[in-house]
Amino acid sequence: MRLVLFGPPGAGKGTQAERICSGWGIPHVSTGEMLREAVASGSEMGQAVKEVLERGHLVSDEQAAQLVEERVARPDATNGFLLDGFPRTREQIRLLDRILERRREHLDAVVRLDVPAEVTLERLRGRAAETNGQRSDDKEAVFRERFAVYRAQTKPVAEVYRARGVLAEIDGTGSIDEVFSLIRQALEERVS
Ligand code: AMP
Repeated sequence: MRLVLFGPPGAGKGTQAERICSGWGIPHVSTGEMLREAVASGSEMGQAVKEVLERGHLVSDEQAAQLVEERVARPDATNGFLLDGFPRTREQIRLLDRILERRREHLDAVVRLDVPAEVTLERLRGRAAETNGQRSDDKEAVFRERFAVYRAQTKPVAEVYRARGVLAEIDGTGSIDEVFSLIRQALEERVS
């Protein structure tokens, strides 16, 4: 099972990704997580992307694609993977197509969680309160910027996958269980 999961920041991607990955036994490949780890480790790449992340902007398409290519080459991704947060731009779709071609693989589905901005903002306020705002990119102004970036750059990504017939649009406003059950239904339909 090779999947892409995307949706606006605060849509619950991370939570649903964990469930899908344990259900199907595939690794969760989150470019955001890998980038935050790089920043925390102080690696050369981490230093290069620190400010971009803090501003809520996107790192370069090549940087993101390289992280993905290295990660899916690891043995635990042989039978599949879930990409979370990638591809985010049309150029990243092209780079992902090339990665998959080189690996003689294809995507089974692209799942988009649909959640309106106001709902995600409410969830974010809850998350900021719970974690004492530990994630500096969770500040409200940064969040709004990330939402705007998502609108401008990432929505067109869905159009490409819709045209290819692999897009599953999921209503992400329900409870965690409700949303997961919609995702499972959509994936079972696509793989059977
Ligand atoms: P996320 O956890 O997916 O919301 O990502 C957090 C941050 O990492 C984003 O706001 C971007 O700065 C960066 N990032 C994650 N994935 C990508 C990507 N595919 N392309 C560019 N930047 C990314």
